[in-house]
Amino acid sequence: MTFTWDDLEHIRGHEWTLPIPPTCARCGYILTGLPDNSCPECGTTFRWGEVRKRSARIWSTINQLRHANRDAKAGLILGLICWAAVAALNLPRLIRLTPLASGKGDLGVMVDKTVAVIEKIALGVDVVALFASLFVILLGSQILNIRKVPPCFREHIPEPRPDVGLGIGTVSCGLLLLVAAVVLPLI
Ligand SMILES: [Zn+2]
Repeated sequence: MTFTWDDLEHIRGHEWTLPIPPTCARCGYILTGLPDNSCPECGTTFRWGEVRKRSARIWSTINQLRHANRDAKAGLILGLICWAAVAALNLPRLIRLTPLASGKGDLGVMVDKTVAVIEKIALGVDVVALFASLFVILLGSQILNIRKVPPCFREHIPEPRPDVGLGIGTVSCGLLLLVAAVVLPLI
């Protein structure tokens, strides 16, 4: 007697080791202990190998969400620090647009020199902020992975539950920082 790959998967399907039950990818029906490969709820046929892979992926996402709030908070703090640095170093450049920096008299020359030094530092900070913004977006977007966990399994996500508002806030902070880091050097 020989087994096909799917037969073997079917047998393994009864030795389910994941902490969440196998579910139908279409309707979410729990497939534990079913004799054949079709969902009794919606009729979709399935392969145990795929059901297992999908459940493993969901379980892995649930575990990754454990530190999502902490990561997003760290991302938000990093984003705000970069924002403060970018703003502090770029705002003086606007002095160039005022009569103070027109080069008239000693004060004008001094202002010009100071602004020129600040501009060099600001360019370096903009480059750092550009990379930091991508990292901030990455840290914030982890929380949004909660979308990949079907609602019926969200109770398995450990406390504290991912704060979607915090995730959106961190991603927005990162996106605005990205825009600022790209646009400010061009002004
Ligand atoms: Zn189904």
